[in-house]
Amino acid sequence: MSALYPWQSHDWQTLLRDRARLPHALLLTGPAGIGKQRFAERLAQLLLCEAPQQNEPCGECEGCRWFLAGNHPDYRLLTPAEAEEDEDGKTRRKQPVIPVDAIRELEDFVNLTSHRRGLRVTIVTPAEAMNVAAANAFLKTLEEPPSGAVFILVAHHWRRLLPTIRSRCRQFPLAMPDARAASAWLEGQGVVNPQLHLAHTGGAPLAALEDAGASWLAQRTELLGHLANPAALDVIGVAQTLDKQKLDAALVIDWLQKWGHDIVSLGLSGKVRYYPDWRDDLQRLSVRATALLDWQKTLLDARKLAHHPLNARLVYESLLFAYLDGLRGKGGKRSG
Ligand SMILES: [Zn+2]
Repeated sequence: MSALYPWQSHDWQTLLRDRARLPHALLLTGPAGIGKQRFAERLAQLLLCEAPQQNEPCGECEGCRWFLAGNHPDYRLLTPAEAEEDEDGKTRRKQPVIPVDAIRELEDFVNLTSHRRGLRVTIVTPAEAMNVAAANAFLKTLEEPPSGAVFILVAHHWRRLLPTIRSRCRQFPLAMPDARAASAWLEGQGVVNPQLHLAHTGGAPLAALEDAGASWLAQRTELLGHLANPAALDVIGVAQTLDKQKLDAALVIDWLQKWGHDIVSLGLSGKVRYYPDWRDDLQRLSVRATALLDWQKTLLDARKLAHHPLNARLVYESLLFAYLDGLRGKGGKRSG
């Protein structure tokens, strides 16, 4: 289960070239959807394996078996709790957070002696999900690491981590898989048009796999269809529909950002990155590319608050109106 993805073996060998010098705190970085957590888990298993063979966990010792069963006593995985449903059945999309309580429990764990006389391994993923109190508490643990404790931090956005945490970890960026390896893997998972889904996700294979089977595909197609036809775009109606669909606002804004990116990119450099399947429409809109630069800034700001907007419908409305304004040249200088 915790085998590496095929594109990770080079990184694995690089990291373990000098296993004796592995740091007690490692920070694995890279975009979401490339398999960082799997890599971290494989490393944790290796560190807990009692009979490793050439930097591979044996898979059969007691350490490995406990790890694979998900109950190794010297292993902790810290990750934000799942979104909870409230009483009216609507999923509350709060920003996922690792709270300070979780770090306090972790302190108890790392300060105990190991059950199996080996290391105690903790994965924190994504590490940027620690709130301020949690990050400060965690920093103390990193400053005075109990002997035998190993921390593997995983971050999609490492710049959001406290600099003081970053400086106490060895940062190890995981490579983006090359397009061919990613496509081959997706085909093996039964994905029909791997290149397209890789484009939708900027080349991240796990995200592409999700993209290929997502429940919201029809909603995204519908929204992009509206964006492709701005003359007929009914902002109020579309915003209302999006709101009723109860999608994560961050997801919807991500689609809008990619749409804006492609229009601007086509206009400025003739390249489409995320939505090659919409190339003709994007091309037509790209005459307004420079006017949409402001819209991209608006989207970026909206994204920061996206997991918990007070009123998602109003957010969608204002973003869609801003899109139309950009296309019509309002607020920016008309180029002709
Ligand atoms: Zn083993």
